[in-house]
Amino acid sequence: MNISYIVNELAEDRENYYNAVAPPIMQSSNFAFANCEEMRSALADEYSTFLYSRGLNPTVDILRKKLAALDHAEDCLVFNSGVAAIFVAILANIKSGDHIISVSKPYTWAEKLFNVILPRFGVTTSFIDGCDIANFKRAILPSTTIIYLESPNSWDFALQDLKAVAELAKLNGILTIIDNSYCTSIYQKPIDLGIDIVLQSGTKYIGGHSDTLAGVLSGKRVMIERIFASEYNNIGSGISPFNAWLLIRGLRTLPMRIERITKSTFQILEYLKSHEKVERVIFPFDESFPQYALAKQQMKGACGLLTFIVKATKREQIENFCNRLQHILLAVSWGGYESLIVAKCVCMATADFDATNPAHRMIRMYVGLEEPAYLIEDLELGFSGI
Ligand SMILES: *Cc1c(COP(=O)(O)O)cnc(C)c1O
Repeated sequence: MNISYIVNELAEDRENYYNAVAPPIMQSSNFAFANCEEMRSALADEYSTFLYSRGLNPTVDILRKKLAALDHAEDCLVFNSGVAAIFVAILANIKSGDHIISVSKPYTWAEKLFNVILPRFGVTTSFIDGCDIANFKRAILPSTTIIYLESPNSWDFALQDLKAVAELAKLNGILTIIDNSYCTSIYQKPIDLGIDIVLQSGTKYIGGHSDTLAGVLSGKRVMIERIFASEYNNIGSGISPFNAWLLIRGLRTLPMRIERITKSTFQILEYLKSHEKVERVIFPFDESFPQYALAKQQMKGACGLLTFIVKATKREQIENFCNRLQHILLAVSWGGYESLIVAKCVCMATADFDATNPAHRMIRMYVGLEEPAYLIEDLELGFSGI
């Protein structure tokens, strides 16, 4: 399906709403029926009817169809945050006594789910270095039901060979789930590589304007229908019609925002690579990246998020860099219009900082929609603090 068709036209039945170009926000909790017969059939099959907006809603439906098409998935569900999508994808596919294999250092709240919440219900998780397929093979137990991936990781961009992991999992009857937030479906389509469930934070690139949270979970129709009828409706964490509308609006410009951000990212990357105060850059589409060949093979592109290691001997120097910035904001998240910085040393207790450890001198930057020269001027100001 053509991408312009998906973001501009797919699922928009304009004749049903006065031919309005922008779809209306169906801000209604419930839907009425003409007679008892219609109501009875809706109650019997909520997955295919509008009954109550905790289940399906017409505005959310437009978004679901577009996002599923972008993922090359049969169907998807949209949540009010990325972590809700993670929680539901896992919860729907485990029972007490099961074992999960997760890549090491997955997204913070996925890690907490595995380490803190699931052990209370007898579900254990092994964390492995996902760069080597042999580590997955070694970690499989008779009770393993899920392999949880995040490729690339959003700090050091470690990748997993998605095709190889999917094949191994299928041989062993294990479900594969990937957090695809870094790439979005524009730059990576894990379902085409054999992965079962793809989830992403819609808060990042899809919303694209740092004004809403959202999460997407895509997969086979039977899987999505089962999750809908159970965990999705039971948790009640579906996206609201208004936030779904914001995401539909975000999708209109997603391809061109990604294109712009990709161009700018390479310019920022070149600037950083040649800077005397930068020890090293980490970016999956840079030739120096250890898994560059794999990145090229399974990703169509990379953009926005990059990490650089600064030459500093004291934590204060790194903080000076951050504090001097006039335009680039100190904030978590990414994928919006605005450029952002997070320094690793701010994410740890000051006493734990060790300047001899390059990982402690990491700065993660998100390149937004600003002009690259404007950002470089700001970075220059930052570097004057080191
Ligand atoms: C932000 C993020 C999430 C969580 O999404 P929310 O929308 O913030 O709940 C999950 N995974 C990755 C990689 C993220 O960056």
